Amino acid sequence: MSSESPAALLSSGLVRLAAAPADKAAAIREAAQLLIAAGCVDAAYAESMQRREAVANTFLGHGVAIPHGLGEDRHRVRSNGIAVLQVPGGVEWNPGQRAQLVVAIAAQSDAHIAILRRLTRLMQDEARLAALATTTQAQDIIEALAQDSAPEPAAAVADLAECAEWTVAYPAGLHARPATRWAETARGCAARLQVRSGDQVADARNMVALLQLGLHAGERVVVSAEGPQAAAALARFISVIDGLSAQEHADAEQAARRAATPVQGWTPPQAQAAIIGIGASPGLAIGVIHRLASADAPVPDQPQALADGGARLHAALTATRLQLKAVADDTARRLGEADAAIFKAQAELLNDTDLITLACQLMVEGHGVAWAWQQAVERMAAKLSALGNTVLAARAADLRDVGRRVLAQIDPALAGGSLADLPEQACILLASDLSPSDTANLDPARVVGLATAQGGPTSHTAILARTLGLPALVAGGAALLELAEGSTAIVDGASGRLYLDPSAADLAAARDYLVAQQRIRQREAEQRSQPARTRDGHTLDIGANVNLPEQVALALSQGAEGVGLMRTEFLFLERGSTPSEDEQYAIYRAMAQALGGRPLVVRALDIGGDKQVAHLELPREDNPFLGVRGARLLLRRADLLEPQLRALYRAARDGARLSIMFPMITSVPEILRLRDICERIRSELAAPQIELGIMIEVPAAAVQADVLARHADFFSIGTNDLTQYTLAIDRQNPELAAEADSLHPAVLRLIRATVDGARRHGRWVGVCGGLAGEAFGATLLAGLGVDELSMTPRDIPAVKARLRASDYATLQQLAARALDCETAAEVRALDLPEALLEGAAA
Ligand code: PEP
Ligand code: MG
Repeated sequence: MSSESPAALLSSGLVRLAAAPADKAAAIREAAQLLIAAGCVDAAYAESMQRREAVANTFLGHGVAIPHGLGEDRHRVRSNGIAVLQVPGGVEWNPGQRAQLVVAIAAQSDAHIAILRRLTRLMQDEARLAALATTTQAQDIIEALAQDSAPEPAAAVADLAECAEWTVAYPAGLHARPATRWAETARGCAARLQVRSGDQVADARNMVALLQLGLHAGERVVVSAEGPQAAAALARFISVIDGLSAQEHADAEQAARRAATPVQGWTPPQAQAAIIGIGASPGLAIGVIHRLASADAPVPDQPQALADGGARLHAALTATRLQLKAVADDTARRLGEADAAIFKAQAELLNDTDLITLACQLMVEGHGVAWAWQQAVERMAAKLSALGNTVLAARAADLRDVGRRVLAQIDPALAGGSLADLPEQACILLASDLSPSDTANLDPARVVGLATAQGGPTSHTAILARTLGLPALVAGGAALLELAEGSTAIVDGASGRLYLDPSAADLAAARDYLVAQQRIRQREAEQRSQPARTRDGHTLDIGANVNLPEQVALALSQGAEGVGLMRTEFLFLERGSTPSEDEQYAIYRAMAQALGGRPLVVRALDIGGDKQVAHLELPREDNPFLGVRGARLLLRRADLLEPQLRALYRAARDGARLSIMFPMITSVPEILRLRDICERIRSELAAPQIELGIMIEVPAAAVQADVLARHADFFSIGTNDLTQYTLAIDRQNPELAAEADSLHPAVLRLIRATVDGARRHGRWVGVCGGLAGEAFGATLLAGLGVDELSMTPRDIPAVKARLRASDYATLQQLAARALDCETAAEVRALDLPEALLEGAAA
C-alpha cells in the first residue's frame, strides 16, 4: 500500500467549498480542474473522468460521488491526489441521486484506498456527511477524510505509551487461531494496542497484520498501548496471550504423539507424512491433490450500480459471518472448541478493512461486485502467499476459502466446490468435510482417495468411503486444506497418513505394495462366493450393508448372501423432501427383487445424532446423540413411521422376503409399542407376518438383552453406536477417534451379553456395525457366538477368507481371551500378522 497518508493526498488547495456547478459534467470538470491545477494530472485526465461516467456509475450514495479517470488513462496521473468539490445545493448525478460532495480521485496505484476506506466509513455516519456538505471550513473535510485511516506500517515503529515485553511462548509460533484471540481481545479494549517485532509493527486488532509479523516461538516482542486505561488494557492483553500458551503446548504435544505412533502396514522409504489424521477406509492410493472447495471457474465481471454492489457485498459479508458463526457453533458442539476456532479465524478475515476496501475500489472502478470481491481476495491471498511464510500461506488458503463463501452469498451460482469439476487424472480429494451424499456421489474412477480435515472414522462419510473402497483419512486438521493443488501425493487410509511429494523410490514402493495387496485380494476374491464356513464346519451368514437397489449387484458379486442392514435414512438424507409411501414401497420392492429371494433386513428410519435431515426441521438439541434419535423419534412421529411401515408391509404382501429392525432401542416398552403399531398396519393391509428385530446399540439394551429377546425376533448389534455409548466417546470426535475402539473389552463383554440373552429365547444375533467388516473383528465376533455378519460389500471377501482359514474352536478360545484382556490394545495384539495368516490359509 502507498506510504502517502490521506492528509498528504488532500490539501486545502484541493478542496473547493460552496460550489454550484450547473450539472454533473460541470461538477466533474470543476473537480478535475482542481487536480490539474495542483499538478496531479494531465489536462486530458478530465476527459477521461467524463468518459468513465459513460461506462460506470461513480455515485457512492448518501450524497457522495467519486469521479475518476479510466484505468487505461492512469499514465495521465502525475502524482496521486484527491480533490473535493463541495456542492451544498447538490448536483444531480443520476436521476434521483444528488451529489453534495464530489470526491475526484487521481491515483496511479492503490494510493487512494485509505481515502476510500474513510469514505466508506463516513457513509455510515449520515449526520457527519450532512455537516460536511455545508461546512464553511475546508479543514473539516480534510480531517474527516484523513481521520481514522489505517496506520502506515512503515511510519509507526515507535511503541505506544504503556509497553511490556513478551516472549512468544507458542511452539508453533503465532498462527491463526491464537492471532484471532489476540485481535478479539484488542478489539474489546478501548485503548489502542500494538505489537512490535523489531521494526515491524502491527495493530493488535488486525489479525492479518499480526500474522504478517511472522512470530516464531521464542521471539521477543513489545506490546504497547495508549488511550483510555492503557495500562489495564495492556495487562489484560498480556494475560490473555499468556493464557493461550497452555493450549498451544497441548496441541503441539498431541501432534507430536500422533506423529510418533508407529505405522502398521505400508511405510514409504523416504517421504515423511505431511498430514497425520485417522485412517477411515483402508488402502493405499496415489493421485494428484484436488481441493474440493476450490472454485477456479472464472467469475464473470457484471458491472452494476456501485451503491447496489456495495449493498450486495455488505449483505453477503453479513450472511457469511452468520454462516461461519453457525458452522463454528456446530463444530464446537460436535468436535470441540479447538476445531471451531478454525471458523472463528476465518470470520476474522472478513473484518480486514484492506480487503473490503480493495473490493470497494474495484467496484468504484466499474467492476461487478462478484468479480471485484474475487479479485480482492485473490490479490490479498497472493500477497500473503508471496511472503514465503507458511503461516501466512495458510491464511491465504483460509482467505480463499472464506472468500468463496462470500462469493456464494453474492451469487449462489458462483459457490464452486462442485464435484462436477474434478480433474481428469486420478485425484486425492481434500475437503473440509464431505456430506454423506457428496461422498456417495464420488466417481471412483476419478477420485482414488479422500482426506478430510474433520470427521471421524465411524462417521457416515467414512462408512461410505469404505463402501466405495476408497482409501480415506479423516480428521487431518485444517492444515490439509492448505496443501497445494496438483501435486502428487500418497494417501494411506489404514494408518491415516498423507505423504506429499513422494520420491521415485516412495512411488515404486507404493506401487509394489499395491501389487502385493492386489494378489491377496485376488486370493480372497477367488473364495468370496463360498460360504463363510470355518475349517471345522461352523458357518456364519454374511450380509451386506446396502442402501439402494442398484448397489445390490455389487454386493452379491462380492459374496454377500443377503442384505443385513439397509439404512433407510439415506432415502431421506439424499433428497430435499420426505419420500412418499409409494416411493418407499417401490424402493423396498426393487431392493427385494434385486436380491432375488435372499434375505433383506430393512432398518426403520434412524434419524438424529449424526444423521440430521434438514428438511424435517427437527428441533435443535444440545446433545443430539443423547436426544430424540432412532426409535425415539419414530415413536414421536407417526407421520414418518407409519408410511414407512405401510410401504414395507405392502412390499412383503407382494412376496418380498424382508424383515424390519428398529434402531436405538433402549427399553421393552419401546419395542412393545413398535410391535403394536406394526401389527395394526399389517392387519389393515392383510400382509403376512414378518420378523421384527431390534438393534443393540446402547449398553442398556445389551445388558437387558435376555429380557428384550422375549419381544424381538432377532438382534443386530450396531457396534458403531454401541462403542460410542459404552465408552462415552462421540463417534465423530476426531480427538478421541483412536480411543473409540470397538475391540475395547467392555464392548466385547456387552456383545457377549447380547448373544447370551438372545440364546435364552432362541433368537439369532447379527452384527452390522463396522467391527463386522474388520477381518480380525469378524473372527472375534464369530468366537463370541454371533450368527450373522453384515458389512460394507468390499469387506466381504477378506472377512470370508479369514473365517474360512480359521477353526471355530480356536475362535471361541480367542474370544474368551479377548474378554479377559484389560485394554483394546491388548485385544488387538491377539491378531496375527497377515503374512502368518496367509501361510495358514495356504
Ligand atoms: C451402528 O451404530 O453400528 C450401526 C450399524 O448403525 P449406524 O452406523 O447407521 O448408526
Ligand atoms: Mg447406529
